[in-house]
Amino acid sequence: MSSPSTRMERVRGRDTAPEMVLRRALWSAGVRYRLQALHLPGTPDIVISSRKLAVFVHGCFWHRHEGCPRSTTPKTNRSFWEAKFAANVTRDERKRQELVDGGWTVFIAWECELGSEQDAAKVAASIVAWLRTS
Ligand SMILES: [Zn+2]
Repeated sequence: MSSPSTRMERVRGRDTAPEMVLRRALWSAGVRYRLQALHLPGTPDIVISSRKLAVFVHGCFWHRHEGCPRSTTPKTNRSFWEAKFAANVTRDERKRQELVDGGWTVFIAWECELGSEQDAAKVAASIVAWLRTS
């Protein structure tokens, strides 16, 4: 039986549906990007190197999207899950800070904001707006 962390790694390494939908939206908005910059802290999912923009597509459950209905806590083994989630949030914040310290701008796209092509287009539009104005 695989531990939750092994399961998460497997999900993380795959091209998830929310990530794919955002990539398509960015591409059709004319944004050219690189994927999974392994040399960067936290391995951002989408990277626009020329502008030092790192985008993470975060699952609401694992990364604890605040106030999001998907950010539930399983009823059993509650303390295990709470410790696990706290570790995830701490790690996310540390990686984000490492990127910011390196001069990167970090953009978090949440899974629940990428439920459809239309939703993804909105997220892509805010990235495009940032690229235009920064
Ligand atoms: Zn969410």
